[in-house]
Amino acid sequence: MPDTIEESKSNRATCRTCKQKIDKGVLRFGEETVNTFSSDGGSSYFWHHLECAAGKVPAKVKTAMANFSGAIPDREKLDAILAAPPKASAKGGAKAAFPYAERASTSRSKCLQCDEAIEKGTMRVAVEREVDTGSFTTTGPGYLHPACAAEYTGDDALIEKIKTNMPTISQEDLAALGAEL
Ligand SMILES: [Zn+2]
Ligand SMILES: [Zn+2]
Repeated sequence: MPDTIEESKSNRATCRTCKQKIDKGVLRFGEETVNTFSSDGGSSYFWHHLECAAGKVPAKVKTAMANFSGAIPDREKLDAILAAPPKASAKGGAKAAFPYAERASTSRSKCLQCDEAIEKGTMRVAVEREVDTGSFTTTGPGYLHPACAAEYTGDDALIEKIKTNMPTISQEDLAALGAEL
């Protein structure tokens, strides 16, 4: 079951975002969740007020809205929430602006320039790139070997920009980056 938008069938559901009741008859957003209690691996939904979900998981809501054929009251208000920059999460805070650099946390990312894997623990440069999800385009990080970054971006001042975006980057990381850029 993909994420969904539907008219609330009862007033028994509670919004997972704000913990308030979802009134019967209003549109609600269902976030797919795997039901660990069912032996056939079935899934069920966590329900949210549409507006609460728009602020919390905008990408998912946009996808669900694209698949929803009914009318959405307060559509403008919803679009405004969806267009707003994501709130900094309580855990990690806002992600640094692009470009930034970091140690690769896995060996799964591939370099945008040479298409080779970026080894875990080595420095990688993250740049903003467009990601086509099929129904809409969003932006997300793309990764590069430092040695490939200058060629990919054609930007001689890349390391200066990274320094500006990452005032707390360690000298060690910066040196590792500078050696290759
Ligand atoms: Zn809510
Ligand atoms: Zn590369």
